[in-house]
Amino acid sequence: MNNYQSRNTTRLPPWLKRDIAFSGRHSEVTDLISTHNLNTVCAEAKCPNRGECFSRGSAAFLILGSICTRNCAFCGVNFGQPKEVDFDEGKRLAAAAYSMGLKHVVVTSVTRDDLTDGGAGVFADTVKRLRDKIIGVTIEALIPDFQGSADSLATVLNSGPDVLNHNIETVPRLYPLIRPQAVYERSLELLKRASDDGRAVVKSGIMVGFGETVGEVKNVLRDLRSAGCTVVTIGQYLRPSRNQIQVEEFISPDQFKEYEKTALDMGFDSAFCGPYVRSSYHASEMYHLAP
Ligand code: SF4
Repeated sequence: MNNYQSRNTTRLPPWLKRDIAFSGRHSEVTDLISTHNLNTVCAEAKCPNRGECFSRGSAAFLILGSICTRNCAFCGVNFGQPKEVDFDEGKRLAAAAYSMGLKHVVVTSVTRDDLTDGGAGVFADTVKRLRDKIIGVTIEALIPDFQGSADSLATVLNSGPDVLNHNIETVPRLYPLIRPQAVYERSLELLKRASDDGRAVVKSGIMVGFGETVGEVKNVLRDLRSAGCTVVTIGQYLRPSRNQIQVEEFISPDQFKEYEKTALDMGFDSAFCGPYVRSSYHASEMYHLAP
């Protein structure tokens, strides 16, 4: 622990206290999502920003169902046996995004290790349907690791997303605890392949507060930069419910500022670091900040 951090995790520190906003377009967004029979990672992962994001008229869509084949210790999405793939989902998603007036759409999915292509084909279909439906839209595909499949990654990249996002989530030492079914090097390899492909902006993100050290976070930033990532997010892990792993530390705003400066000094085009930052938080602004 350093001077920036708070180990007392039974109470939120002052910088994490805020009013929960349910105003503006919140009910319009929830209605559209429900009318089109869609899922969002905002709701399924119990994201603490959903009041704010929905009120601003934005959301991050979750495709391929709402049940994940992996059981990461931090994640609020349900784990189990997923349902059949719904091949009409992309069409409904494009219609909802159009009605919401979105100009930048984030599409993510549960991890579907049960599917031969990991769901890459449905990602590609969704990207194409968004392009057809919304003139000038920019699309961010926030993908799982596809168990390292280069073919699945190529399927997504060939569909032409503007941003290829894949979260590395935590430092390699904590993978067995936090992300036991994932492999740090495999995720880096996926990002490197996407960067070498050259068509999409490559983005990644981690959560902090699991007990990692500042040095370990900086090493991850270095690894991401070496893999060709140009956009990075760092946010505080907050426990979605009692079923997930406890918060080990609350990281202070000053430490987040230092991470941001470190990332920019390392050559990232854009770094978004703060207690409530999430991978898809203000994703449109992040994309447009990146050159
Ligand atoms: S930060 Fe991302 S996941 Fe959370 S509510 Fe906003 S759009 Fe949804």
